Amino acid sequence: MTVKVAINGYGTIGKRVADAVAAQDDMEVIGVTKTRPSFGCDLAVRKGYPLYCTYDDPERISAFADAGYACGGGISDLLAVADVVVDCSPGKVGASNMERYKAAGVKWIFQGGEKHATTGRSYTSCANHADNLGAEGTRVVSCNTTGLSRTLVPLLEACGSISVECTMIRRAADPGDSKKGPINAITPVLKVPSHHGPDVMTVRPDIDITSMAVAVPTTIMHMHAIVVTLPDGHGMTTSSVLDLWRQQPRVVLMHGGDTGITSTAEVMEFARDIGRTWGDLHEIFVWEDGVKVEGNKVWYFQAIHQESDVVPENVDAIRALMGTESDWRASVARTDAAIAVFNGLA
Ligand code: NAD
Repeated sequence: MTVKVAINGYGTIGKRVADAVAAQDDMEVIGVTKTRPSFGCDLAVRKGYPLYCTYDDPERISAFADAGYACGGGISDLLAVADVVVDCSPGKVGASNMERYKAAGVKWIFQGGEKHATTGRSYTSCANHADNLGAEGTRVVSCNTTGLSRTLVPLLEACGSISVECTMIRRAADPGDSKKGPINAITPVLKVPSHHGPDVMTVRPDIDITSMAVAVPTTIMHMHAIVVTLPDGHGMTTSSVLDLWRQQPRVVLMHGGDTGITSTAEVMEFARDIGRTWGDLHEIFVWEDGVKVEGNKVWYFQAIHQESDVVPENVDAIRALMGTESDWRASVARTDAAIAVFNGLA
């Protein structure tokens, strides 16, 4: 069975998810939506993804033809031929699309800009794939929550319980965004604790976690400074924690001192060297020499490529909802291998 996937919202995340889906041999992109005939339509045309309008309004639909783009119709026309829709609309907008998806009888996946309460279910491949099997819909958690899950879930599973405090140093805007800031300030999130850490508990309620957050003038990555408290008798050492993360998919460990990768700038250069489209880094980057275990504490830094770490998670979430792969590690391996081939890297 080839799963028919619609992408509603062909922006930063949507265009990446479309390619990740197109790379797989068990699913296909049957259409992507744009609100109006803007420059992103050219990319969809070049990639061969059928173009639809985000709305059903005939005037908005005909504006695409007027601008020279073939348009398959409105969102209802797209949903009529889809098995699942990945909603990649801007944060807090997706919730208003929910009733439409339910009425069309398609499964739905929202992104981290929506609240967990909207969907009542959230998803990270390594945290709760099995809980999402066969579900009507879910929410792939944010880039930050995905990053925290990738390194914290293995620690939780190795130690039985963990308690976490982290500081999220957040990028001000995505590289293609001209509307957000700050451009010359460090802006604290004054609602403490911030929502970022506790969002991990939507996929693993057994992780006790709080966070604080600041936004800084950079566009390329987020950084997390994390302190984990392990239970008494945990038996972990710095080297066993590193080994644990080496076995975890979608985590990259590198020694900053040895490699010269000492900041997010070099991490992103490393990602561009790897050769994925847009210079993406789906993996969470952990500096080996920034990890330390002493007593009951683990300290570490990790860097998150906000535009892409959630992308392969959406592919795994499709398999969970469709019930086509119950083993999260098998899904991750299949997703990542297909993306590598798609990018000409395997
Ligand atoms: P974006 O603004 O780059 O793209 C959103 C796209 O949706 C645009 O093409 C826009 O025209 C379209 N759109 C507008 N209104 C719509 C509607 N009503 N229905 C469908 N589409 C509509 O946004 P993005 O950065 O891709 O974010 C999408 C989602 O992914 C948000 O929930 C966001 O929080 C989440 N997310 C973003 C990032 C990131 O760093 N950009 C990381 C992880 C998760």
